[in-house]
Amino acid sequence: MRARAIFKALAKRYPGARCALHWSQPHELLIATILSAQATDVGVNKATPALFAAFPTVKSFAQSSAADIEPFVKQINFWRMKARAVFESMLMIEREHGGEVPRTMESLVQLRGVARKTANVVLGNAFAINDGVVVDTHVMRLAQRFALTKHADPLKIERDLMRIVARKHWCQFSHLLIAHGRAVCKARGNTCATDTICQKFCCEGQRPPPARVTARQPSKVAAKGQQPTERLGRRRPTATSPRPSRRRG
Ligand code: SF4
Repeated sequence: MRARAIFKALAKRYPGARCALHWSQPHELLIATILSAQATDVGVNKATPALFAAFPTVKSFAQSSAADIEPFVKQINFWRMKARAVFESMLMIEREHGGEVPRTMESLVQLRGVARKTANVVLGNAFAINDGVVVDTHVMRLAQRFALTKHADPLKIERDLMRIVARKHWCQFSHLLIAHGRAVCKARGNTCATDTICQKFCCEGQRPPPARVTARQPSKVAAKGQQPTERLGRRRPTATSPRPSRRRG
């Protein structure tokens, strides 16, 4: 089966593929994932050590305020909105879930700033629960390129992947696609046609590499040192070009 073959090839290529966010407790992963929306994991990883040191528990976040969190996340896109989402989600976990990050999709998506993608990251990585497939931009692009879906909508792509990938691999499959997206299938500078996985599974990779543009070969005359202007001057007259007048002396 195609999805299985892709999984095997990627797993062999990227044996250490895992979540790139830094965390040690489930609520930290939830916060890091909320912060990572439309931001880089590297940027989030720079901000979270100080944030997690200042607020080491769900309770400490719940007893703070969005304004207390803001200074720690100011380097990240949409920091004001995200600080509020972090505070309100932690408050809800403290009040309604006894300080424990819930382990169901239904409960997680009730939290502020949490949609299916974030919930899938937390369930898959913090609790090893495969409830769905994380569909980020890399997964979207590669699922399309590898012909695993015809859809562009993340929910529909997730549904397609859940149908064709074994459930036990859902979480890891997204890590593998993300690893390939970061290493090979970048938004710019792809290595289409030179990568073995791409050659096998992506229609782009099966195309011949574009012909290399080379400098025009100099003509034999030019090679002997003649200037281009001289060659132009010796052009043969055509039907439309004026002929030199011949005078009889
Ligand atoms: S062949 Fe090109 S477009 Fe296809 S997966 Fe590889 S890098 Fe991406």
